[in-house]
Amino acid sequence: MAEYIIDEKREAREIQAKFEELLAACRELKPLTSDEEAQIVRAFQIARNAHEGTRRKSGEPYIFHPLAVAMIAVKEVGLGPIAVVCALLHDVVEDTDISLEELRMLFGDRVATIVDGVTKIDDVMVMQQTDSKQAENYRKILLSMCNDAYVIFLKLCDRLHNMRTLGSMRDTKKLAIASETQYLYIPLAHRLGLYNIKTELEELVMRYTNPDKYAEIAAKIAATAGTEERLAECLVRPVRELLDHHGYHYTIKTRVKSVYSCWKKIENKHVDFEEIYDLYAMRIILKDVPREQEKEECFKIYALISGQFPPNPTRFRDWITRPKNNGYESLQTTVMTPIGRWVEVQIRTERMDTIAEKGMAAHFLYKEAHPDEQLDSNPVEEWLQQIRTSLEQSDKSALDLVEEFKETLYTKEIYLFTPAGKTVVLPSRSTVLDFAYAIHSALGQHCIGAKVNARPAAIGYRLHTGDQVQVLTSKKTLPQPEWLDQCQTPRAKEAIKDFLRQQKKEYVGEGRRKLAQYYNNLHLKDNRQNFGQLKRFLNQKSDVDLYYDIAVGTISEHQVAECFGKARPAPKLFFLAPYKDLFDNKSDNGQGHGDEVSPTPFLLDHEYEDLPTETATCCKPVPGDQVVGIVQDGKIMVHRTGCKIAMDEMASHENHIVRAKWRPGEQLSLLTGIALTAIDRKGLLQEITGHISDEMDLNMRAITLEASEGVARGIIMLYVTDVDKLNGLIDKLKHIDGIEDVHRI
Ligand code: MN
Repeated sequence: MAEYIIDEKREAREIQAKFEELLAACRELKPLTSDEEAQIVRAFQIARNAHEGTRRKSGEPYIFHPLAVAMIAVKEVGLGPIAVVCALLHDVVEDTDISLEELRMLFGDRVATIVDGVTKIDDVMVMQQTDSKQAENYRKILLSMCNDAYVIFLKLCDRLHNMRTLGSMRDTKKLAIASETQYLYIPLAHRLGLYNIKTELEELVMRYTNPDKYAEIAAKIAATAGTEERLAECLVRPVRELLDHHGYHYTIKTRVKSVYSCWKKIENKHVDFEEIYDLYAMRIILKDVPREQEKEECFKIYALISGQFPPNPTRFRDWITRPKNNGYESLQTTVMTPIGRWVEVQIRTERMDTIAEKGMAAHFLYKEAHPDEQLDSNPVEEWLQQIRTSLEQSDKSALDLVEEFKETLYTKEIYLFTPAGKTVVLPSRSTVLDFAYAIHSALGQHCIGAKVNARPAAIGYRLHTGDQVQVLTSKKTLPQPEWLDQCQTPRAKEAIKDFLRQQKKEYVGEGRRKLAQYYNNLHLKDNRQNFGQLKRFLNQKSDVDLYYDIAVGTISEHQVAECFGKARPAPKLFFLAPYKDLFDNKSDNGQGHGDEVSPTPFLLDHEYEDLPTETATCCKPVPGDQVVGIVQDGKIMVHRTGCKIAMDEMASHENHIVRAKWRPGEQLSLLTGIALTAIDRKGLLQEITGHISDEMDLNMRAITLEASEGVARGIIMLYVTDVDKLNGLIDKLKHIDGIEDVHRI
């Protein structure tokens, strides 16, 4: 590398020249008010003085860097005066004596906030830490990035300049910066639609992380250099003649695919370099087309071109009728040229081109440039808001958060239709519930499922592009905690969480009363200190959560007692007498609940009271079942009376048998299973799960359904509080069309 020779006079001239260039670029973008110009000049002077005497690794004066970042912001992103001021100042708080407060006084709140966001990102980035801590850092980064969209835009400009000038860094530092760029900044550039910046970052990262492959593909592209000229002759020229002949106003751009995207295509699609279809692309941008004629005009051009150059029918894409989620609109085809090469042709209007080049950023920039216009939505702001909410409210680990965030950067979209034919665009993997909430929160709130292409589907059913979805609702249905696993859009999740929070609050009074009763029973004081202890002991996040769990019985008096060391073994069952006459006792038969016999104190005190009980996994008894206890290894195993295993045990260990009965009134939910056999058909699973969720007290844990040769066999595991409910369900399932057999296991 050539050594940098310091010449301060020449440098001072260069700095001034670069600044003049920057001002000119700003004016070209939008005429500057005298106030805006004064701010930019002041920012430049402060930055120049503050960085005076410091140099970059390359030897250049440091101020070259902020000047370059500001230039990228104006020229390559299209950002205005505020961004330029922030870009010039973006490193002064971190690297010089100037404080954030000084910036706030001189330039106002917004500039200070943006510079602070950019600085914070640098702060956490330099820390070298273990993985989970690194993830925690990313979370902070993400949050400070989301304060103001300018933070992300400027950070991307900053990163681009650093990547362009990476050459003078140490090799390990190069790799660290390159991989961080790959991990976070490229996805961000993609999501915002800064495609040129994304492409350049990808190229730069590949050059440093995979230099051999980069050189190999770059050489192959260079070897086809002659092709470009031949294409200009045999494709671009005839197309120009065609368009001129029809009186169109247009521009044509051509491009050769980047090294990185060639490499990706070779790797992902397992093709050879020679098989890349869109190594060359030609873009036709129509000018002066009224909004309502855009689609028609683009299709006309398509017809003209495909009339002369045979198109590949499998490579036609209409992104105008259904634009992508990021707003991308274009008509795309691949045509054969007289030199035997396929060339991708993109047809779009100027408006579409701006969006295609700048994506979400285009909407953002438009709004920035027209602050007085009332626009219904700004996708960048909406997206940032979504991220903020999910980062702030989620209780996931930082690593999951970062992964989740990254997923939102690359989400593909699906196109769905309402019964009236209206298009709804959702991220892929969206469910019926997501669809319902996307249309209206009230529709989501009461959603019980949908008809997808006229067939019934459950709320968690994953939709596919082209599905027509009719949401089915019931006034009685309200969001359940399980719904959170049945949807994936932030909109649906937030609405459900909101509802659940509200709902929980309504239980506070009841929870408070119940807890007071428990305290009273346990001779404890109902005070703040005890409540705090209980909250910690039960690992509850909020007061509302704790009161709610007490109100609905998820937390029992027994657990409260345990917290204060006052727990007594609380048998869920009580034991009456050494068992000998179970089958003689006709009064209990068939009724389950029969007459309640009070526990004989003698027996409880004596032999069995302290023994822990467990429900047997072989027959999975539930409250209401007739049960029997068998003493085994210091505990009482509770079986259903008809259980084969219990029978065997009883036969060989007569004296170990205890008669057991459910303690009345105890709310207990136990896991049990149902097996079923059915003639397989579409919608069967939905119908089964539908019946289960109809029963409020039955909580499904798992369901497996396997079909072979037209017969489906399934096992459903459920939490059951009452055998009558379970029998009711079995009865209902038996009446579903095609069900051959249902029984408990
Ligand atoms: Mn910087």
